[in-house]
Parts: sequence; C-alpha cells; structure tokens
Amino acid sequence: MAREYPLQFKCAHEGCSEKVTYRYSTQRDLRESFELKNYGRGGWRCTRHANPDEVLSATNPETRFEVVSRQESYGNFFGHSGFVHGPGFKLFANDFPPGTKLIVTARIELPDDATQAAPAAASTKESAS
Ligand SMILES: [Zn+2]
Repeated sequence: MAREYPLQFKCAHEGCSEKVTYRYSTQRDLRESFELKNYGRGGWRCTRHANPDEVLSATNPETRFEVVSRQESYGNFFGHSGFVHGPGFKLFANDFPPGTKLIVTARIELPDDATQAAPAAASTKESAS
C-alpha cells in the first residue's frame, strides 16, 4: 500500500468536536493543497457549522435560496450549471429565458407533540466520527 500524508482539522466552532482528515499521495501535494491554504489556522468548519443559517431547526424552520439565470454564448446557466436539481425538482436552464429566477425553499413542520429534542440535536459536542 502506498504511503499517505494525512492532514486533519477540527471544526473551528467552539464546543464542536467534528474532525476531517484529508489524505495526499505526496508531501508536496499536502503542502500545496487547497485544504491547507484555506482551512489551516482554524479555518475548517463541519457541515453543521459551515453555513449555520442553512441548518433547519425548531428556531430556523425555513430556508430560501435564489439564483437568476444568465445567458452565455454557449447556453443559459443558473450559477455554474445549465441543469439544477434537488429533492422534488429538476430544471434545465435552456428551457427558460435569461433572467429567470429559481427560488428553492425548504421548510420543516414539527409534529404537534414535539416536546423533546431529537437525540442528535441535544448536543453538538457528540460526534458520529
Ligand atoms: Zn462543527
């Protein structure tokens, strides 16, 4: 088995114990990696803490994302893609005129008897890793 050069980061959010490990084939790959340049010195955050406003919760039950399509010489795009999909929808940018706005919302509805927090939400200090 070839040698690996691991690079590990801990989530910068106070109290969070999530960790990530990136692995490289050479020391040079590690030294020149995107991850070392961008996540070094406490810059890495886990999925829960990278964009906390996107995490649905009892106090943040709805999120909204908007993007407007633009015309390029080679087609229409929403962001960097001519095809956008998510749970319950698919969209081909070329099916619509430039300037079309895509609005994606996600909303949770808690059960009526939601008096107890889910075990995973009780503490962010617990880690599945
Ligand atoms: Zn975290």
